Amino acid sequence: MTKTVVVIGGGQSAASFIARFRQNDQQSKVVLISDEPVLPYQRPPLSKKFATGEMSKEQLFLRPQDWYEQNDVELRLGTSVKSLDPVSKSLRLSDDDTIHFDQAFLATGSRARTMPDTIGGGLPGTYVLRDLAHAEAFSHELVAGRRVVIIGGGYIGLEASAVCASKSLEVTLVEASDRILQRVACPETSEWFRKLHEDHGVTIHEAKGLKRFEETDGRVSAAILGDGSRIEVDFALIGIGIIPNAELASDAGFEVEGGIVVDAHCRTSDPDIFAAGDCAAFQYKGHLTRLESVQNAIDQAECAADNMTGNDREYEPFPWFWSDQYDVKLQIAGLNRGYDTIVVRPGERDGALSHFYFSGDTFLAVDAMNDPRTYMVGKKLLESGKNITPDQAADSELQLKSLL
Ligand code: FAD
Repeated sequence: MTKTVVVIGGGQSAASFIARFRQNDQQSKVVLISDEPVLPYQRPPLSKKFATGEMSKEQLFLRPQDWYEQNDVELRLGTSVKSLDPVSKSLRLSDDDTIHFDQAFLATGSRARTMPDTIGGGLPGTYVLRDLAHAEAFSHELVAGRRVVIIGGGYIGLEASAVCASKSLEVTLVEASDRILQRVACPETSEWFRKLHEDHGVTIHEAKGLKRFEETDGRVSAAILGDGSRIEVDFALIGIGIIPNAELASDAGFEVEGGIVVDAHCRTSDPDIFAAGDCAAFQYKGHLTRLESVQNAIDQAECAADNMTGNDREYEPFPWFWSDQYDVKLQIAGLNRGYDTIVVRPGERDGALSHFYFSGDTFLAVDAMNDPRTYMVGKKLLESGKNITPDQAADSELQLKSLL
């Protein structure tokens, strides 16, 4: 009898899983169930070229509709999975349908963290940026001269600031911790990006949290900060991180710890149910880790598809990430967790700069600002298990390529 595989979620992981699964298995029935009403699409441009208007909606889609038809993938779009029963191997859907499956792939991703209604977090004129509908609503606000407050100085907040400043809006960014990018980058990288934004006219408040939004005529009109300062606004963007969509798995009794826990083969605690991408937590270098990146969504999903189709292999991530702000491309290779030393190295081209992260003499990661050559070398070093020492990174005479 034909096996049925259900893919829950319709983002990057789901799309990558299906493509790899179909390469390996042309027989099984594959059903993709996504609560979004559109085909799987790329999220990164939502805070970059889609927001600036340089990229159309059609260009966001990972594959055209006929690809799913040609690959015999049944699409249930605009449909949410309400519950998963691992014993009867069935899903209950938002349209009251029940689907039975043999194997399942959880690719439920994450959702934007919001601010509570009690402080005005849900007022008209406040936005988050996680999906296409959010991005479409947000981009309608981007009119020159308008005032926006952006809450949160992570990558989404900074990319949104760059988009707004480039469109001549008046931008104020508020970060509750001591510095922007504190959770993800070294002080040198934070400083570099703070200056970049300030040079583009963005006002940055660090170490100040949002106390509440004020409203006028039922719409956000000001942000009141912890120190009592008041910022008049026309609209607000909240970019304070994400929450993994792990409830389906926890309700089904699977292990969840900051994400759906999977083993090295991307399996949940149920051998027929796999998970990958933003929603999944796995052991990496001695820590239970969840990566929020396209790299992880693709590579982990492909690994899950291989394992589901009997091509056993362990997931070994080589993290990389990027962010576009103004005319700067930041490329990151590696994961800087546990660093104790930073080496700043100017790149070969004018304006290119990289920050190397080390733990002792061990190279962990590099942030490369408009410095693709250094990024490439750093990425290849990490992938091949080779090292660069802090002294070597600091030696401007040393050709990095010679280390490969
Ligand atoms: P998602 O893409 O979140 O997809 C999950 C899907 O599952 C969603 O469609 C969701 O609605 C659906 N779903 C959830 N629960 C259910 C349910 N119960 N039933 C049915 N469907 C469900 N990463 C980078 O590497 N570089 C970048 O520059 C970058 N920029 C980004 C910019 C923005 C604005 C955003 C939002 C993300 C960015 N990311 C970036 C992160 C990257 O997009 C994510 O890591 C990636 O999309 C994760 O893919 P995923 O498939 O795991 O989850």
